[in-house]
Amino acid sequence: MRVSLELKDLAKYPFLKESQQFIGASADTLDRFLSSASGRIAVRHAMERIRISLRMVERDRDEDRIPSDSIDVKLSISGYVLARIIISCAADRALMERLVRYEAQRAFSFLLDEEDKKKVYVASSVGLDIGEPSLSVVQYVEIVAGLHEERWRLVNRDVGEGRVSVSPAEMNELLREQIRVILFRQLPLRVPEKVCSILKPQVEEIRAAYQKTILEQFGTVEEECFPPCIQALAKALTGGTNIPHSGRFALTAFLHNIGMGAAQIIELYCRAPDFDLSKTQYQVEHISGRSGTEYTAPSCAAMRTYGLCVHSDSICEKVNHPLNYYRAKKRREGKKEPTSPSD
Ligand code: SF4
Repeated sequence: MRVSLELKDLAKYPFLKESQQFIGASADTLDRFLSSASGRIAVRHAMERIRISLRMVERDRDEDRIPSDSIDVKLSISGYVLARIIISCAADRALMERLVRYEAQRAFSFLLDEEDKKKVYVASSVGLDIGEPSLSVVQYVEIVAGLHEERWRLVNRDVGEGRVSVSPAEMNELLREQIRVILFRQLPLRVPEKVCSILKPQVEEIRAAYQKTILEQFGTVEEECFPPCIQALAKALTGGTNIPHSGRFALTAFLHNIGMGAAQIIELYCRAPDFDLSKTQYQVEHISGRSGTEYTAPSCAAMRTYGLCVHSDSICEKVNHPLNYYRAKKRREGKKEPTSPSD
């Protein structure tokens, strides 16, 4: 399908091949570019993109002034590319996940206002045919792998002749998810050592900013503020009781979400009777985002379904998520106040 893309479209959808061709990026010239005046501006653009992605909040469209002149469009696309390079140098899946989530949301919010032809073109560039009322089971399963709402589960879908029916509104949601999946699949980029060492100050700044974001959201880890369900799981584990997979998932995701490092979480699991270091390491890293999807702890409704909601108290009556319980209890106890709820 032929679609005429304007210059500003290249900035809106920097992952398109046309956008990449427009800046003509190449690894050979990257270190030279980084030391040029344009390179320094592009690095600033890249850092801004990453900082926004770390805020983990819904993107405000006003944050993006879409450039329309050739030089600014080039800098904007270069910023997109450099953000991916910086994150690849940082080699942290959680950072990659945050960046692609932001990029997918950013592109998607522009797509919502596009004429159908352009939207179909961008969707097809990430391998999704949004003109169809259904997707093949294989593609559907691949796209929804990171979506945890019940409605996406195959058992809750209308499936026939190897295809899953999808409404136009759902197709939009799947388009955003597909952009995220495709962008994530390309990471980490293979970045020459030399380039990573030039970008070392930026990588360190981003690592520190991420750590700060987590700490600002939840403050330091206060075990006494854990909700009763999580306390019960931790107690069962440290007491040497085997807990089922759903319980391990809930506990690990919760601890990861409040900022506990993988090493600390694994330490907790050491006390389980069936402790297996490599298996635990794999599971913890998987849930913490190494697999490409950073999981969020289950909501109270899901915890009830799994039979994990126990000893609920008066704070439980006011919350719908164990993470919100944790924030509320910390507030009540006068601990560090969280800044922006993410769930
Ligand atoms: S209501 Fe929610 S926070 Fe409270 S125990 Fe149940 S699952 Fe945990």
